[in-house]
Amino acid sequence: MNVLAKKSVSDLDVSGKKVLVRCDFNVKMEGGVITSDKRIVASLPTIQALLNKGAAVILCSHLGRPKNGPEAEFSLAPVAARLSELLGLPVQMAADVVGPDAQAKAAALQPGEVLLLENVRFEKGETKNDADLSKQFAALADLYVNDAFGSAHRAHASTAGVADNLPSAVGLLIQKELEFMGAALEAPKRPLVAILGGAKVSDKIGVISNLLEKVDTLIVGGGMAYTFFAAQGYGVGTSLNEPDKYDLALEMLQKAKDKGVKFLLPIDTVVGKEFDANTESMTVDSDELPDGWMGMDIGEKTRKLFADALKGAGTIIWNGPMGVSEWEKFAAGTIAIATAVAESGAISIIGGGDSAAAVQKLGFADKMSHISTGGGASLEFLEGKELPGIACIDEK
Ligand code: AMP
Repeated sequence: MNVLAKKSVSDLDVSGKKVLVRCDFNVKMEGGVITSDKRIVASLPTIQALLNKGAAVILCSHLGRPKNGPEAEFSLAPVAARLSELLGLPVQMAADVVGPDAQAKAAALQPGEVLLLENVRFEKGETKNDADLSKQFAALADLYVNDAFGSAHRAHASTAGVADNLPSAVGLLIQKELEFMGAALEAPKRPLVAILGGAKVSDKIGVISNLLEKVDTLIVGGGMAYTFFAAQGYGVGTSLNEPDKYDLALEMLQKAKDKGVKFLLPIDTVVGKEFDANTESMTVDSDELPDGWMGMDIGEKTRKLFADALKGAGTIIWNGPMGVSEWEKFAAGTIAIATAVAESGAISIIGGGDSAAAVQKLGFADKMSHISTGGGASLEFLEGKELPGIACIDEK
């Protein structure tokens, strides 16, 4: 699959057409009230572009994990209300997903008008990528646009199956994900440097393996670094450690050598007595963590080593914090790397989930070229896996 060749909304003639758009409206809610409308705001450019080009826009999304069909607490009605405020237009709400009300409202929808279907997971066939449900989605519209990157790693009826039945394109949000992450993996501005951190090697072994095929330098910090040390016979105290991944860790170190990839691990480590925000701490060399102490952050020498490796990079991919960055005492390593990435002048791409949250919380969001909107999806993308929600889209 050539992700850079996928059609985008700008390649579609939508004038006078009904366009079904799969959005990510999986917003945070408490007691029926939206607590963050970031995802709704993020969907606006695609919706606006389609309206400006004369389309009638039918939106759909999942929200939460309803188990037994329609449940009021998972209704998208609050999203329709917020979206209407943001667009400055009425947004019609269908009482069902593909049922009689959705069909009638979709049939009557005029160019410039917006309709939101109910939560796609109210239909049992959604997560099974049911062929009949996919056809029912397709029957509502003339064209399909997928703009839900956070769900693109799932083959569901509204994220993948529907595209078998309609001409399709990606929305502007997914287009940006592909432009940055796709280009970083397929045609990067070099040197390409990846920094991986976070808790576990087991979560990221696929990413490490795939990136070793692509990068010039791979930097590993965070909790996952200790498995690499332990695998080589060094003491890691009470740090995070996955003995069943030693073989894979050694294999990755060997792969880096074979591929001529520079592989950097921490040279010093901030250790703590206990896994606690205020625990006693000290900095030690990474190859001699004392018994009874736990690695919590990269040390100052490492911060400099890693920052130096980022200088002159053409592209940087970063996924996972360098330590327990939720706690101020152990956030300095992650902040140092965020600063170095921001100052590098490189194209900087932040993988979703915790790293995106850390970059946002630490105030570096606007210094990065691209922060992925998908946690699981961006990891699978970096693993080199084909994402069903993107693979299903027509090429130019
Ligand atoms: P991930 O979801 O894999 O990116 O992991 C993020 C989590 O890894 C965060 O909650 C961090 O607190 C945690 N983490 C990073 N470094 C360490 C460490 N040295 N020890 C324990 N947890 C860590």
